[in-house]
Amino acid sequence: MSEQFVMERLTDNLTRLRLGRTRDILPEMIKTAESEDWSYLTLLDRLTGEEVAGKEQKRISSALRGSGLPYVKTIDEFDFAFQPGIERRQVMNLFDCSFIEQKENVIFLGPPGVGKTHLAAALLVKAAECGESIHFTTMPDLIYKLRLDRDTGRAGKRRRPYECSSLVVVDEVGYTPIDREECNLFYQFVAMRYERSSTIITSNKAFDEWSELFHDSVIVAAILDRLLHHSVVVNIKGNSYRLKGKLSAMTQTEMDKPAEEPRQEEVMSGM
Ligand code: ADP
Ligand code: MG
Repeated sequence: MSEQFVMERLTDNLTRLRLGRTRDILPEMIKTAESEDWSYLTLLDRLTGEEVAGKEQKRISSALRGSGLPYVKTIDEFDFAFQPGIERRQVMNLFDCSFIEQKENVIFLGPPGVGKTHLAAALLVKAAECGESIHFTTMPDLIYKLRLDRDTGRAGKRRRPYECSSLVVVDEVGYTPIDREECNLFYQFVAMRYERSSTIITSNKAFDEWSELFHDSVIVAAILDRLLHHSVVVNIKGNSYRLKGKLSAMTQTEMDKPAEEPRQEEVMSGM
């Protein structure tokens, strides 16, 4: 039997077995194995290692694509030096994903641009890498889905991603007010996930401002009670990272044209 025939049959079988990565790298790997005098065991070990890594990468990419996450951010891209108010260790501890096993929540509070969504997204990416099911939504989008599912009678019948994912991010809670009925739907969402799975919330509003925004202090108290019972709260009191770019650009302009100096308020109002 010619070597070429064996290779063709092997390629065909690897395709049938859905071992595409092995099929693609096999010829090169055999060459390397021969030139470096690998044992059969080493060759098999390297091939299966590559296949598993490839499949894992595909699984993560597919989970991220289906999660609703608008962009991929990682914790490596986060500049802690820019945000000295954040306790680095508290945030880094979250990245072992044990809060998901413990069914704990994470709440990022702070003004716009301080990195709340970035950190929430990075945790979601990490959770996907750890094999957890993930879902990303914003508060207006979640309210829309909750309303729709209630109105169409789907609520409670088929489990939705916002309901059954191990980790759900609800971004931008508090940016837009919600009415009493929507507040009730949000309460049901929080109560449903309470002690069953983890939720990350980002908000630009302090907890004492939530009642005002959601029009019902009794329900807000019940929401906060469940959200905060097992939770890590990261309160970010710093400057906007978006402003950092603008300020350095402004400084550059200043260096070019030193005649007038813009005041901080002018920089802010230009955003
Ligand atoms: P927020 O949700 O608090 O309004 P974002 O997370 O959307 O802010 O951050 C705004 C932009 O600035 C994003 O592109 C984000 O990646 C970036 N960013 C914010 N903080 C940091 C940081 N400390 N290091 C690196 N990039 C940051
Ligand atoms: Mg945000």
